[in-house]
Amino acid sequence: MLTNWAGNHTYAAGRVHSPESVDELRALVARLPRVRALGTRHSFTDLADSTGDLVSTADLPREVEVDSDGRQVRVSGGLRYGDLAEALANRGWALATMASLPHISVAGAVATGTHGSGDRTGSLAAAVAGVELVDARGELRSVRRGDADFEGYVVALGALGVTTHVTLDVEPTYDVRQDLWTDLSWDAAAEHFDDLTSSAYSVSLFTDWVSGAVQQVWLKSRATEPPADLWGARPAARTLHMLAGADVAAVTGQGGVPGPWHRRLPHFRMEFTPSRGEELQSEYLVPRTAAATAVERLRALAPGSRRCSRSPRCARSPPTTCG
Ligand SMILES: Cc1cc2nc3c(=O)[nH]c(=O)nc-3n(C[C@H](O)[C@H](O)[C@H](O)COP(=O)(O)OP(=O)(O)OC[C@H]3O[C@@H](n4cnc5c(N)ncnc54)[C@H](O)[C@@H]3O)c2cc1C
Repeated sequence: MLTNWAGNHTYAAGRVHSPESVDELRALVARLPRVRALGTRHSFTDLADSTGDLVSTADLPREVEVDSDGRQVRVSGGLRYGDLAEALANRGWALATMASLPHISVAGAVATGTHGSGDRTGSLAAAVAGVELVDARGELRSVRRGDADFEGYVVALGALGVTTHVTLDVEPTYDVRQDLWTDLSWDAAAEHFDDLTSSAYSVSLFTDWVSGAVQQVWLKSRATEPPADLWGARPAARTLHMLAGADVAAVTGQGGVPGPWHRRLPHFRMEFTPSRGEELQSEYLVPRTAAATAVERLRALAPGSRRCSRSPRCARSPPTTCG
């Protein structure tokens, strides 16, 4: 039985097809009464499921074509971000941002508005300059930034067809350093929220909600030095995983050591299972001005999460939050 990454959803679809050419994909889509694209199965819901069949683009030819003058790259949609990043870095190019894990497919991640972190970076979809897809009739369609309804084609949740290629903006390669801080008080986080989230290129906060502080702050900085002081938080003395007790071999380089963008922007290394491999994640978007109130309300729910932490499943993966 085929399940998603978290193992909480078993796909109901009849078959998963893996065409090896775009022509084969087109014929398949034209023939099947109902079909949906499947990426690397990292979504936590039945979003990528179908009452018909599924089609994966992972076996289509792997293409990474850089247009240096136009600062863009045309890539196969089934490629994983980590593989794309490696190919780009080897040629001296970079993406502006990456998600916490590099294991997700380009087409699947873009289709769901997947994002990294940071006040000044857009989501992965913000870099999309073009989409090529096979529509419900099996016809190839190509849309470019500036075309009518372009944004809808980009974050389409797989509803408009099967994306074969995506064109992304790129920039010259750069280095990033990752500095971690621990035990930032909730009061300081609330009082300095805007300064905190803009204190580095990418900022992530982690807490188990019950220990009375933001346990970890992950700052990823580009070219600039990170702040020398973080409102009373302590610089991490060693490499940390955001999940208590998890193997730190899985996380990207920390300790302020600069490294290539694709080895620092994701939290997790490509060679390891991201996170613990058995948790569920959800995400809520709130206006920035409501952030402190939202955190306060969630903290009020902490006793409930403490009860959950005592259940056998949660004891292995206690609730943690990243922002
Ligand atoms: C450990 C972990 C960490 C995560 N971290 C982050 C994070 O930091 N930031 C964040 O925003 N999200 C995060 N996510 C969520 C994840 O990025 C999204 O669920 C993403 O959509 C997964 O991509 P996928 O390739 O697995 O797509 P799937 O889950 O397989 O599919 C997702 C959607 O994309 C569509 N799709 C897939 N391939 C194609 C295609 N070729 N053409 C058209 N549509 C297609 C599917 O039909 C479906 O609707 C995380 C998930 C996990 C498991």
